[in-house]
Amino acid sequence: MKAVRFHTHGGPEVLRYEETADPIPGPGEALVRVRACALNHLDLWQRRGMERVEIPFPHISGADVAGEVISSPAGEFAPGRRVMLQPGISCMRCAACLDGRDNECANYDVLGYRSDGGYAEMVKVPVQNLIGIPDAVGFIEAAAFPLAFVTAWHMLITRAQLRAGEDVLVLGAGSGVGQAAIQIASRHGARVFATAGTDDKLAKARQLGAAEVINHTTQDLPARLREFTNGRGVDVVVEHVGTATWDRSLKCLARSGRLVTCGATTGHDAKLDLRVLFVRQLSLLGSYMGRKAELLRAAQFFFAGELRPVVDRTYPLADAADAQRRLEAREQFGKIVLTA
Ligand SMILES: [Zn+2]
Repeated sequence: MKAVRFHTHGGPEVLRYEETADPIPGPGEALVRVRACALNHLDLWQRRGMERVEIPFPHISGADVAGEVISSPAGEFAPGRRVMLQPGISCMRCAACLDGRDNECANYDVLGYRSDGGYAEMVKVPVQNLIGIPDAVGFIEAAAFPLAFVTAWHMLITRAQLRAGEDVLVLGAGSGVGQAAIQIASRHGARVFATAGTDDKLAKARQLGAAEVINHTTQDLPARLREFTNGRGVDVVVEHVGTATWDRSLKCLARSGRLVTCGATTGHDAKLDLRVLFVRQLSLLGSYMGRKAELLRAAQFFFAGELRPVVDRTYPLADAADAQRRLEAREQFGKIVLTA
């Protein structure tokens, strides 16, 4: 098959579109013909190299996949069945998994992280990761859905325990998690404030359900937010930016506010004034990926047309390097998707 692989860490130029052996599914694994694979920041970290994680070479990235079943154990899914893939891989046997907290599994992995992923014509995955999609849902939209929406769902609903009537600040409306969080929070009855760096992105954030928008490059975020909330601040901040926004994010919280973070795309160093933490009774919540049950729940809204992954642009698989350059430059609004 054709795949996009890298044999060494580096910039987008290390991505090579080349011929490689077809994956051979092991026991319990299905083989899927990839039709679409969405990009995530995780792909960039893998390509650049990370301090404590060893990526096997040559490597195929790609956690967000939609396509057609080629084969599955005992024919559980008919060949040709249209599916999207749950990106989290876990044992489904340990106490955490059996508790429904599969993203806390000791053997938790993400598709395309230490195993080969979806930047390819075919991918193998555990059969329990297959989720059938209705005919009305296209492969590109289906690939754009899982990781961003399961992450945002876990952050808002499970970790931050969002309630109707609360105020939520979503940073980076144009990111995958940002566009998902705006939709999930507003569909759950929250008032959503969203930030972005251009007026065009702010207009799109409004269309997704943001009540007010703030340009984080030209406006004072905490000051604007206090105006919108009569000086109170917000109940929940959805963070994934890290060093560049951390201080301002904390300043946006109301008393008893919760900051939930799933990433640090601008750096992982942050300061914390402990007096602010206890006097204002803040909660800082870490969040990583999400649970399969949450993905299935979110998927019901997706299939009913009530949650809609925003697709920024598609690229042929062979042009994965250009696609990653666009993500790296933060030019996108929504998900960038490779088609194969
Ligand atoms: Zn487990």
